[in-house]
Amino acid sequence: MRINIVGAGAMGSLFGGLLAESGNQVFLIDIWKEHVDAINNKGLWIEGLSGNRFVKIEASTETEEIQGKPDLIVIFVKSYHTEEAANKLLPIIGENTSLLTLQNGLGNTEILSKIYGKEKVIAGTTSFGATILGPGKVLHAGTGPTAIGELDGKLTTRIKDIAEVLNQSGIKTEINQNVLGLIWSKLVINVGINALGVLMRVKNGEIVKGEFSPKIQRALVEEAVQVAKKKGIKLTHEDMLNEVISICKKTENNINSMLQDVIRKRKTEIDFINGAIVKEGEMVNIPTPFNQMITELIRAIEEKYEKQINI
Ligand code: NAD
Repeated sequence: MRINIVGAGAMGSLFGGLLAESGNQVFLIDIWKEHVDAINNKGLWIEGLSGNRFVKIEASTETEEIQGKPDLIVIFVKSYHTEEAANKLLPIIGENTSLLTLQNGLGNTEILSKIYGKEKVIAGTTSFGATILGPGKVLHAGTGPTAIGELDGKLTTRIKDIAEVLNQSGIKTEINQNVLGLIWSKLVINVGINALGVLMRVKNGEIVKGEFSPKIQRALVEEAVQVAKKKGIKLTHEDMLNEVISICKKTENNINSMLQDVIRKRKTEIDFINGAIVKEGEMVNIPTPFNQMITELIRAIEEKYEKQINI
C-alpha cells in the first residue's frame, strides 16, 4: 500500500517504520528538518520492544515532494496541529486516498471531515507507545491493541484492507463498528490520567494511590462519562472509572504524554482532552467544574514555562 505519514514524531515514525519494514511504500512528512535529514541520511533508528535497527525510509518537510497520490494518509501530528497539517495535504489527496487518525483527544475526525469530507476519514485508537530520542531516533515503548473503523460503522473493503496492512506490520489491529465510542473511551482514560499526572509530576501508578488524587480522578472521569452518556455515546466499559484505575495500575511506570510535554516545556493537548469535556459539557448542559479547573491549571503551567523557578 502507498502510505504517507503526516507528523513523523514518536508515533508517526514508529508506525511508518513498521509499515515500511513489511513492504509498504511509506513516505514520512514532518516539519522538523533535523529529524527528516537524519532519516534520509542514515535511516530511521527504532529501538525498544520490536528490536533495535535502522529502517530505510524516505522523509520530507514538503508535501510537494511526494509523487503520486497515496492510498492512505495517517495523521500523527499533535491534535493542535491537525488543522494546519491537514490544510497542506490537498495536492496529494486523490480520489481513492483515505485519511486515518489515531491521535488522542477529541475533534480530529471533525477537523479532517470539515476539510476533506466525512467519507475520506477513518479513525481509531492505539495502545502503542513511542518516544522520540533525538533526530532520526525513536523508542518503541509500548505495544497494545489498535482498533480502527469507518465513522458510520460500516464494514467496508478499505477498512478491511487497512486493518490487514497494519496487522501484517505487527500492529495488531481490530475493526470496530463504534469508532466514536472508542475515541470517547480513550478520551475518558486520558481525562483521568494525563493532567492529574502533570499536576503531581508522577507516573501513572501513583495517581491511584493516596487520599486526594483518586478523589480528583473520580470527579474528572465522572464528569466525562456524564457528558458522553448525555450525548448518547456508547463507551467501551460500563464502569469507566474502574477501567481508568486498572490502566493506571497496568501502566504504573509510564510517564504520561502530557507530563512528558510539560517536562520538555512543550504545548500540551489539554484543550483536546479535559478542555474538550468542558466544551462538550457546555453544549449538552452538563457542568464540568473539575475538568474546567484542571484545564485552566494546565494552561497556566504552559503560560509560565519560562518563569519557572529551578531550585
Ligand atoms: P510528537 O510530538 O512526537 O510528534 C508530532 C510530530 O508532528 C512532530 O515531529 C512535529 O514536528 C510534527 N508536526 C507538527 N506540525 C506539523 C505539520 N504541520 N506537518 C507535518 N508535521 C508536523 O507526538 P506523538 O507523541 O507522536 O503523538 C502524536 C499523536 O498521537 C498525539 O495525538 C498523541 O496524543 C497520540 N498518541 C501518542 C502516543 C505516544 O506514545 N507518543 C500514544 C498514543 C497516541
